[in-house]
Amino acid sequence: MALGSFASNGFDSKRQRALPIPRANANMKTFTPDSSIASDVIPSMNYGERNKGRLPDMIVLHYTGMPDVEGAIAQLCTAGTDVSAHYIVLEDGRIVQCVPEAKRAWHAGVASWAGEQDINSCSIGVEIINRGHDWGYPEFPLRQIAAVIALCRGIMLRRKVPSHRVLAHSDVAPSRKKDPGEKFPWHSLANSGVGHWVQPAPIVRGETLKLGAISDDVADLQTALARYGYGAPANGKYDATTMEVVTAFQRHFRPARVDGVADHSTLTTLQSLLASLPDEAMAVAAK
Ligand SMILES: [Zn+2]
Repeated sequence: MALGSFASNGFDSKRQRALPIPRANANMKTFTPDSSIASDVIPSMNYGERNKGRLPDMIVLHYTGMPDVEGAIAQLCTAGTDVSAHYIVLEDGRIVQCVPEAKRAWHAGVASWAGEQDINSCSIGVEIINRGHDWGYPEFPLRQIAAVIALCRGIMLRRKVPSHRVLAHSDVAPSRKKDPGEKFPWHSLANSGVGHWVQPAPIVRGETLKLGAISDDVADLQTALARYGYGAPANGKYDATTMEVVTAFQRHFRPARVDGVADHSTLTTLQSLLASLPDEAMAVAAK
């Protein structure tokens, strides 16, 4: 989610540490959280059934991209906004569940990964409270990241989510989304067994592929991005879409420079990631 400003009011801001439960939801039927470390349930109105009973085998991480927590929770839980997520992770590490994992939450929007378009049907959506790029983009507090790691580890175990399918919203919707962004510490998650990650290759001077280039090298880059799962074109042209995909790749895997230019470091990091994918992932990618 990254929806810009949201007029939040009606919450008692003097209630310290109480969760801002949207009033319309106060009487909604609650449910038992799927995660034992979710401390609260705020049922969202916004969900449906997973298409053809598709079981989730992906986690999509987001930031809320809104200036305040109350507005973000209201946005995700109030009927009519058409957005939701299974979980919200607060800055202090508390975890709120809004949609049962069995249901289809509405967090990914128009998206694709590894040839699949209905990302909401195949994923668990986790919204991380952070104001995002439009509102100063603060660092993610350590305790919040620790909570994201613990939550994801549980989901991965229960749902058999492979590490390479723990993704950013920007990975599955590179033309539209930046979240959770280049400050999100994917390396810390990987150190705890969450997500596929390799040490990014150092940035060095040298030739690059960039917007406007047309060559076999561009075609090879597009093929490599698509093999990893990205919705990259296959036309040999370094067009705007290709640049957006490279930018998304860098936000996740080479955050030291996010410029949409495929330099040596970007290409090498991509090759290392592909080389370290488990065999079953490559079989899926080859389909
Ligand atoms: Zn998002």
